[in-house]
Amino acid sequence: MARCWIRFSVAALLVLSAGTVRAQTADRLYILNCGEGVAGDISRWSPGVDVGKSKDFVDNCYLIRHGQDWLLWDTGVADAVAAMPNGLVPSDPRAVLWRRPKTLASQLEALGVSPGDIKFVAISHTHPDHIGNVELFPDAMLIVQKAEYDWPNADGTPRFKPGHPVTKVEGDYDIFGDGSVTVLSTPGHTPGHESLLVKLPKTGPVILSGDAAHFQANFDNRRVPSANFDHDETVASMQKLANLMAKDHAQLWINHDAVQRETLKMAPAYYD
Ligand SMILES: [Zn+2]
Repeated sequence: MARCWIRFSVAALLVLSAGTVRAQTADRLYILNCGEGVAGDISRWSPGVDVGKSKDFVDNCYLIRHGQDWLLWDTGVADAVAAMPNGLVPSDPRAVLWRRPKTLASQLEALGVSPGDIKFVAISHTHPDHIGNVELFPDAMLIVQKAEYDWPNADGTPRFKPGHPVTKVEGDYDIFGDGSVTVLSTPGHTPGHESLLVKLPKTGPVILSGDAAHFQANFDNRRVPSANFDHDETVASMQKLANLMAKDHAQLWINHDAVQRETLKMAPAYYD
């Protein structure tokens, strides 16, 4: 009887400890400068609010090391824009005029990371300020929602080079299989928009927004840009992130928020 009880207790303990195993973490995260710009009329992103006001934008890429692997989240404004003296001037003056103070390639080089070292390139969505340098990494595995991958350009052409290796995701996706870096499906801005949850050993959990929201005030007030693909999906996606933030005590790092970027460390400094 005693023996039986011990056996039972050991089994129960094993079950308990398996249930409380903590998710692994990524090792470090660098924020790279992937563009700086000025929007002509910020109310495109907040209908009815701040009409006619211009606003600074930034554009970040995020380089994540996990063991021996490198993952790049978004690729920013095309490196070719760095050579344009007036920046990339939009056809609609209310949109963003992008500049590229530094290329992505030069920032990777400064960190001693070559494009061939990047194993995964995960993409929040297919707007040009996020996919400008995908083909700098022709051998990297793209991670993108199927709904985004299958969404044709306005002229019917595909958004990615058809030969590029790709993992087409449907919904949330645990990239390394250990809970450290998780793609979060957050549709609305585009059909297959996604965000990224990164767990770091000291910094804790961080959600990289993509364009689920462009600025803190837009997130806080659930403002939906007029050009978004689906209004209600956008609001639901913001709520999904807010719920995760509450549950995991996660920070939200908003890609285009210039005010927030001032408070964060840029590469070569990093978060661990
Ligand atoms: Zn976008």
